[in-house]
Amino acid sequence: APKVVLITGCSSGIGLALAVKLAQDKQRRFKVIATMRNVAKKEKLETAAGAALNKTLEIKQLDVCDEKSIRSCVNSIPQRHIDILINNAGVGLIGPIECQTIEEMKAIMETNFFGVVRMIKEVLPDMKKRRSGHIVVISSVMGLQGIVFNDIYTASKFAIEGFCESLIIQALKFNIFVSLIEPGPVVTEFEMKVYEDAEKADYSQTDPETAEIFTNVYLKNSKAIFSSLGQTPEDVAEHTLKVITTAKPPFRHQTNAIYTPMTALKHADPTGALMTDSFYKMVFKYDTLLHVSLKAIRLIRWQAQKMRQGARLLGFR
Ligand code: NAD
Repeated sequence: APKVVLITGCSSGIGLALAVKLAQDKQRRFKVIATMRNVAKKEKLETAAGAALNKTLEIKQLDVCDEKSIRSCVNSIPQRHIDILINNAGVGLIGPIECQTIEEMKAIMETNFFGVVRMIKEVLPDMKKRRSGHIVVISSVMGLQGIVFNDIYTASKFAIEGFCESLIIQALKFNIFVSLIEPGPVVTEFEMKVYEDAEKADYSQTDPETAEIFTNVYLKNSKAIFSSLGQTPEDVAEHTLKVITTAKPPFRHQTNAIYTPMTALKHADPTGALMTDSFYKMVFKYDTLLHVSLKAIRLIRWQAQKMRQGARLLGFR
């Protein structure tokens, strides 16, 4: 029988691309419950789904910030049976923290962290009873590495990474897999929304130097990075398909190899100096990402060798 896959945040971006990809699977391996907060925005998905609509793809309302909405969506599924839960809904926030209210920050945590926690709380007991299931979270490389002016967004993704890192050990005991997908930049409405908000924001709450760094250094570089290194949502959907169809799914999966050395910097040097120096240079001294990456790769190799030696000493082969 096809696997029941519930995806959150399917009105745009990665969620939409993934819902369509799984619903149009040639081998018909999936029955997709494509959920969105506001079903009035379903047209784009309906059009993209084409003939799959109401066959292998069904659209349902679900707001990850509303327990009632989550409960009634899950209850509407036969036997509440979900094989694969894909937590995709998420929101961004960029800028100097002096310009953000605690309420705005809490809203990010509500969606990106507690939104996923609410979903997992709802489906985990059923998965445990069936002793099978797969929980996927669309995290980010920013769940592994902080990025300037993304303080709260990064914190929300770190939070869910820590949550999943704790949960997976228990989950595995019940034959439930947990996977974090960590994309780098992806060209979706997400970045447009954060840029729009950033352009409307009032920078009088911060000093002129910070405002200047944010608008002239960060925003410009960030837009350049999105247009040069950004992946398509279809690309991320393809990676996610592979993760959910492998026999033993990975706990972490990065979709953009260019970012792997960046996220490894802190592991290569536990004092954090390599990481902070590299990022400082990248942002303020315009060192190239390549230069930093090469330095990091050399250090990581050295570190890995030391770790293997350590493991041998401890008796792990
Ligand atoms: P997007 O803005 O197109 O999609 C996010 C979706 O989540 C939207 O459809 C939005 O309506 C939905 N959503 C927001 N709040 C919700 C709620 N309370 N309940 C249900 N749905 C809600 O952006 P995207 O890039 O497709 O983002 C999808 C995921 O990918 C997010 O978790 C994001 O953090 C992550 N991500 C994005 C990028 C990127 O560069 N775009 C990079 C790494 C990770």
